[in-house]
Amino acid sequence: MQSMINKSSHILIAGAGGFIGGWLTKYFVDQGYQKIRAVDIKSRSDWYQVHPQAENLVYDLCGLEACDRVTQGVDYVFNLAADMGGMGFIENNKAACMLSILINTHLLMAAKKQGVKRYFYASSACVYAHDKQTDTNVTALKEEDAYPAMAEDGYGWEKLFSERMCRHFSEDFGLDVRVARFHNVYGPKGTYDGGREKAPAAMCRKIIQAMLSGKHEIDIWGDGEQTRSFMYIDDCVEGIIKIFNSNFDQPINLGSSELVSINQLASIVEDIANVKLKRSYDLTAPQGVRGRNSNNDLILSVLNWEPSISLRKGLEKTYAWISQELETKV
Ligand code: NAD
Repeated sequence: MQSMINKSSHILIAGAGGFIGGWLTKYFVDQGYQKIRAVDIKSRSDWYQVHPQAENLVYDLCGLEACDRVTQGVDYVFNLAADMGGMGFIENNKAACMLSILINTHLLMAAKKQGVKRYFYASSACVYAHDKQTDTNVTALKEEDAYPAMAEDGYGWEKLFSERMCRHFSEDFGLDVRVARFHNVYGPKGTYDGGREKAPAAMCRKIIQAMLSGKHEIDIWGDGEQTRSFMYIDDCVEGIIKIFNSNFDQPINLGSSELVSINQLASIVEDIANVKLKRSYDLTAPQGVRGRNSNNDLILSVLNWEPSISLRKGLEKTYAWISQELETKV
C-alpha cells in the first residue's frame, strides 16, 4: 500500500487499547513506522493489544490538557477513541456515548494548535437516518442518507455532530480531515462479552458456551430477521489507510455490502462449529434498526476498492480466537 506518511512521521492512535485501534497500531508497527504514540484511557493490562515498539500511554482524552499533551510533536492523528459498544450498550448508555464528543472536540482543538498534517475520525453507520432503515430488505445506505438527520439516539448523534465538527475545522481552520463511517466491524482481539460486544462476537461466544455447557440452546435478540452487514477487521484497517491516503475529505462508508439476517449469522457460526442449536428469541432485547447495509458506490469510485473478505472466512478466524479465549478460562 502506497502511503503519504513517511515512516519516521509521528503518528498518534487514540483508542489504541481498543479493538480497531489495537489492529491499526499493529499495522503501523509491522510496516516499520518508528514513532507511534498509542493512547487509551484503560490501564495497559486491559488493552487488547500492547505493542512494545509503540509509545504506550494512558490518558483520558476527554480533557483538553491530555489532548494537548498527546498531540505534541505529532504529524498525523487517528481518533478511534470512544465510549461505545453493541446495541445492548448504546441503547442503555446514551449520555455516556454522547460524552465522547469531548474526545473529538479536544483532539481537534489540540491537533489545530499543534499543526497536525492530517486527522482521521472514526464515524459510524449509526449516523444514518432511522426512517431509511425500517425494512429487513433495506436499500443500502448512501452517504447522503445521513440527512435530513435522524441518527441513532445518543451514539449516532454524537458521531454526526463530530463529523460536522471535523468538517468545520477543515473549512474554518484548514485542518486536513478524513472521516470514515464504519459499518459493524468484527474479528479477533475485540470485545466478546461483558455487555459491549457486537452481534458476530456475541454469536460466537453464545454458541461456544452452549457447546461447552452442554445446554444446546442460544438466545437471539429480536426475531432474528433484522439484517446487517459485517466487515472483517483486516478490511477495516486496509480501508482506513486507503481513505487516509486519498484526496477525499468528506464522510465515506467503510463497510461490507454482504447483507445477512441475524438468523443467517447464527447459521454460519453453527456451521463453523459443526452444531445445530435450539434458538430462543428475546423480543424485548435491544435490536437497533430493522435493516442496515453499506452502499459502496462512493468508495468504489474514490478508491477502486471495497471490503471483500467474506463473512464466512472472517467468522472462522473470529470463532477460533473466541473459542481459544473461552477454553483457557474454563
Ligand atoms: P473499542 O471500544 O474496542 O475501542 C475504543 C477505545 O477507546 C477503548 O479502548 C476505550 O478504552 C477508548 N476510550 C474510550 N474513552 C476514552 C477516553 N476518554 N480517552 C481515551 N481513550 C478512550 O471500540 P472499537 O470497536 O475499536 O471502535 C473504534 C472506533 O470505531 C470508535 O470510535 C467507534 O465508535 C468506531 N466504530 C466502531 C464500529 C465497530 O463495529 N467496532 C462501528 C462503527 C464505528
